[in-house]
Amino acid sequence: MSFSKMSKLGSYFIEFISPTSWHVRGVRKIYYSEESKYQRIDVVEFEDLGRGLVLDGKVQSALYDEFIYHESLVHPALIAHGKPERVLIIGGGEGATAREALKHKSVREVIMVDLDEAVVNASKKYLPEMGADAFSDPRFKLVVGDGRKYVEAAWGEFDAIIIDATDPMEGGPASLLYTVEFYRAVKNAMRPGGVMVTQAANTSDALDVMASIHKTISTVFKVTRPYSAYVTSYDAPWGFIFASDSADPKAIPPSDVDSKIAANVKGSLKYYDGETHVHMFSLPKNVREAFASA
Ligand code: SAM
Repeated sequence: MSFSKMSKLGSYFIEFISPTSWHVRGVRKIYYSEESKYQRIDVVEFEDLGRGLVLDGKVQSALYDEFIYHESLVHPALIAHGKPERVLIIGGGEGATAREALKHKSVREVIMVDLDEAVVNASKKYLPEMGADAFSDPRFKLVVGDGRKYVEAAWGEFDAIIIDATDPMEGGPASLLYTVEFYRAVKNAMRPGGVMVTQAANTSDALDVMASIHKTISTVFKVTRPYSAYVTSYDAPWGFIFASDSADPKAIPPSDVDSKIAANVKGSLKYYDGETHVHMFSLPKNVREAFASA
């Protein structure tokens, strides 16, 4: 998705127009704007989504429904692993991905590697609802740096690796996080039985991108499972891809998902449970065919 921004003096009104759905997303207020070394960072109040983070004109998360995205990204993989202790997050600037990972009782350490400390600082100040629980958790550690370099230097260290980076935009800071070399490095950074999950564009107007990411991952891991969850703030059925050489979320009956959540997850989940799990991993025919023909 790319946005075009029009700003008028006086009311300082910015209109984000998303070609995905040509849905004009009004912005009521700007809390913070910065051109960092890596990207344009805006924290805004959307007319209909509450406060949210926008990077390079693309909605990253909004208080209205960030729980859908972050629960969908984190819990299927950690439930499929069964007993994750060390979790690595690439990206995840707002802290919400870390918040969800730290809900798992078995997790002893979450290392979040984000390229841009300005995103983390803006999120801490203007979006504390997303990451405050994580940033204050003694098990959490922030590393400011490039996720690819970090993974390439890690060896057999993590039970779960979660890639919550920006989209693979040409020349963007995350573009190298969607390559076969990166996924090979991710696999090397895993402990035996390790799992990976990545956000992967969407199953509507970026289905070709998601299918291409899935094809790349399939050359590295034995089990790859694409899945999806509709996220209003993205105006799209958002895409995720799970990967492992052993664990398989599609093999877990919904009743087992519910019992694993009850046994392993502290606090409540608002979106994810056994029935949601089945829904997310049941993709429409056109989407499955796009993956098969990629
Ligand atoms: N939920 C969003 C999505 O699905 O696109 C992702 C949100 S999160 C804010 C994206 C983060 O990825 C940003 O904080 C950005 O700084 C980080 N990022 C981009 N490229 C990176 C890289 N090469 N290494 C580490 N973090 C990176």
